[in-house]
Amino acid sequence: MALKKPQKGNCPVTIARFAGFCGGVAMAVKGAEKLLSEHQVYCIGDIIHNSFVIESLKKKGLETVSSVKEIPPRSHIIIRAHGLPLEEIAALRKKGCVIHDFTCPILKKIHKDIIKLKRKGYEIAIIGNPKHAEVKAFVSRAGARFGNRPAARSVARVFVISKIKDTDGLSYAPRRAIICQSTISSALFVSHAAKALGKSGETLVIDTICCEAKKRRKEAEELAKKSKMVIIVGDRKSSNTMTLSGIVGKYCSVALISSADEIKKNKIKYPLAIVSGASSPRELVLDIARKVC
Ligand code: SF4
Repeated sequence: MALKKPQKGNCPVTIARFAGFCGGVAMAVKGAEKLLSEHQVYCIGDIIHNSFVIESLKKKGLETVSSVKEIPPRSHIIIRAHGLPLEEIAALRKKGCVIHDFTCPILKKIHKDIIKLKRKGYEIAIIGNPKHAEVKAFVSRAGARFGNRPAARSVARVFVISKIKDTDGLSYAPRRAIICQSTISSALFVSHAAKALGKSGETLVIDTICCEAKKRRKEAEELAKKSKMVIIVGDRKSSNTMTLSGIVGKYCSVALISSADEIKKNKIKYPLAIVSGASSPRELVLDIARKVC
């Protein structure tokens, strides 16, 4: 683990190597900035879970809307890193919108895998939050009918498991694939998948937790073991930030903040480590580090 220590005097603060945007978010933000220099651009839902970045993109002309209905015909539209349900993409095409797809490549791969599994006759169960944009995009692909082959016609059911008791409502399926939201904790995935196992003839359990999220968690856990406090830079709306908070909280105090203004210097404990969710820019992390040294 290579760590950067911006220290003033003897201030023992360690910044996580993986703090800052993840690859998917960096691509979406960079893509949006480039587009905004040429067009007004719409996005359904917040482009990322970070109010600073959203505000800065808004100043450059990004319009965040909550549904396709609010987007004028033939507009430029960004698909954010979480992806978009197929029905919404179809509605945007019908309106003649120019679609710029910044769905994270890791999630695009899961979309493709869902479609392949459905074609092979697997019913899909998704462990995650049904209200999360990423899960809605999965559900749309898992519930859609593709092609005319008998297997494809017969498989159009999808089930979202957000709480362990949801598995009680899982009906029997001859073949089922269990996947998960890319940012949930491994412990939650394993416990929920284990409970769902007996509800199908043949079951495929596929760990779709993002590898970048896993690296961040491992690093955060190691830092938490050596620290009295960990600052997590991120938004409470961000699933990966909340998962980090659960992991770090087992070892030391946690301060979850989304801006340098929220730092309460008298409450900071040292040695201190700083980690971040995937939607927090590295500059913000460094800014916070300067204030606590
Ligand atoms: S956390 Fe992982 S899956 Fe989600 S946007 Fe970032 S790289 Fe993609």
